Amino acid sequence: MIISKKKPFEEILEDLEKDKKIVILGCGECATATRTGGEPEVAEMKEALEAAGKEVVFTEVVHTGCHELDVKRILRSNKEVVERADAFLVLSCGAGAQACRAATDKHVVPGCDSLFLGNIQRSMDFLEKCSHCGACVIDDYGSICPVTRCAKGLVNGPCGGMSHGKCEVDPEMDCAWVLIHEQLKKEGREDKRTTTHGPKDWNVIRRPGAVVERGPDKLKMGSEK
Ligand code: SF4
Ligand code: SF4
Repeated sequence: MIISKKKPFEEILEDLEKDKKIVILGCGECATATRTGGEPEVAEMKEALEAAGKEVVFTEVVHTGCHELDVKRILRSNKEVVERADAFLVLSCGAGAQACRAATDKHVVPGCDSLFLGNIQRSMDFLEKCSHCGACVIDDYGSICPVTRCAKGLVNGPCGGMSHGKCEVDPEMDCAWVLIHEQLKKEGREDKRTTTHGPKDWNVIRRPGAVVERGPDKLKMGSEK
C-alpha cells in the first residue's frame, strides 16, 4: 500500500490560485485506507474549496487511482462536465496524480504527498518494510529487510548506536539488526549472522521502473536486456 499524507490546504489553494472550476478525484484503494483520498476526504475537500470560493464541478473516487484506463474511462464518460473544469485536484499518491495527467491536458494538482510502500499493521498503523530494491535478499536476514528497516541500510551487521534493542536514529523503532538476530536464532540459522555480503547492486533497479514484456513466467523490466 502506498502511504500518503494530505498536503496543507493553504498549499493546495495556492496551487489552484488561477483556477476557478475544479474536479476532485480520490482513490478507492491506498488513499482510502490512509484516509487521504477516500469518500470522506473528497467530500471534505469539496466543502473547503467551495468555502474558499471555488466551484467544484465534479468529484469521483476512482476505484484504483493509479489505473490509467480507469481514470480515462471516468473522465470520458463525464466529458461534458469535466470539460468545464480549469483544474483537477487529485487526492491520492503521485502515481494517481500522474494517471490523471495521462488523461487530461489541463492543470493537475496533487493533493497529497507520497511517503512509502507500507505494510498495514493495524488500522492507520503503517510500517515500511520493503523499499523495492529490485533484488530481494531477505532470506539471509530472517526475512527482515535490513535495506529498509535499518535506518542506515546496513547489510553486514549493526552499527554501534543500538541501545536496549532500539535504533539510535529513532529510539521509538526496534533496531532491525536485533530483530534479524533474534529471528535467525528462532530459525536455528545463527550461522547466517556471519555471512558477509558485498555492496548492494543498485544497478538492478532503474528509474522509472517499467514492465516492457509479459511472459508466462516472468515480467521483463525496462532495464533488462
Ligand atoms: S531486500 Fe528489502 S528492499 Fe529489497 S526487495 Fe527485499 S524486502 Fe524489498
Ligand atoms: S541502531 Fe540498528 S537499525 Fe539503527 S542504524 Fe544502527 S544498526 Fe541500523
